[in-house]
Amino acid sequence: MLFWYTYCGDYMDLIIGSHVSFNKDEQLLASVKETLNYNANTFMFYTGAPQNTIRVKINDDLTKKAKQLMEENGIDIKNVVVHAPYIINLANSANFDFNVRFLKEEIKRVETLGIEKLVLHPGSHVGLGIDEGIKNIISSLNMAIEDDTKVIVCLETMAGKGTELGKNFEEIKKIIEGVKKKDKIGVCMDTCHLNDAGYDLTNFDNILDEFDKKVGLNYLKVIHINDSKNIINSHKDRHENIGIGTIGFENLIKIIYNNKLKGIPKILETPYVEGNPPYKQEIEMIRKKEFNKNLIQDILE
Ligand code: FE
Ligand code: FE
Ligand code: ZN
Repeated sequence: MLFWYTYCGDYMDLIIGSHVSFNKDEQLLASVKETLNYNANTFMFYTGAPQNTIRVKINDDLTKKAKQLMEENGIDIKNVVVHAPYIINLANSANFDFNVRFLKEEIKRVETLGIEKLVLHPGSHVGLGIDEGIKNIISSLNMAIEDDTKVIVCLETMAGKGTELGKNFEEIKKIIEGVKKKDKIGVCMDTCHLNDAGYDLTNFDNILDEFDKKVGLNYLKVIHINDSKNIINSHKDRHENIGIGTIGFENLIKIIYNNKLKGIPKILETPYVEGNPPYKQEIEMIRKKEFNKNLIQDILE
């Protein structure tokens, strides 16, 4: 009885999904269908190729159909996430106008879809220095986030590859401090990035305490769940399948089921295996809380 309760309780509470695609033919409807294949109850997508600015016009009929399918399957749109394209680099003042305009357009697209959460890489300072980079991020966010903005822009914690900013909670804190509309800003933690940035994920409660002190737990809106191909503090940012990397299955399970993170969507961005998405098998093993030793073979089948 107790087992049944804990099992069902976790099953209902867990908000888990993965990166899925949003294609030009079926748009959001395609994303929802893919999500259902993985037995997930949330998802994240790019509104177009992350490395270019070509975007299709949102088709309201497809959005309506997608929302209906979500409702039938208990997917709450509040938990759905869009990832902003990574060509936006708010830290680089050279492309200030382009960055602000494109981020504004992306915010509008996300709002048209009725989605609340937009994950954004803070940016790379490309040699300008940390302080200058952070200043640029703050002024562009203050331009892009307007009075009537409904979306919450979630700054992702980064691995610290190259000149990436947002590699520690101090930098995230500084950015948030400078943003005027604080109810429109949030944070997305990425487990691979945290590990690669030097955070020890064997004790996630310590990390959450530090985050709460420096930034505030109320800002935490999304968690990217990825294993890492590299050791702690490597500043590499190469994602690995769940349980196969240096973070390991037990540590990731403790993060996913951490009581303080209840209600926060967990999104997998683990690599495809020989062209096959790993998400159905990874989500199954996360729900069972048991590592599948045949994970890779099962994904390939
Ligand atoms: Fe990201
Ligand atoms: Fe991520
Ligand atoms: Zn990454």
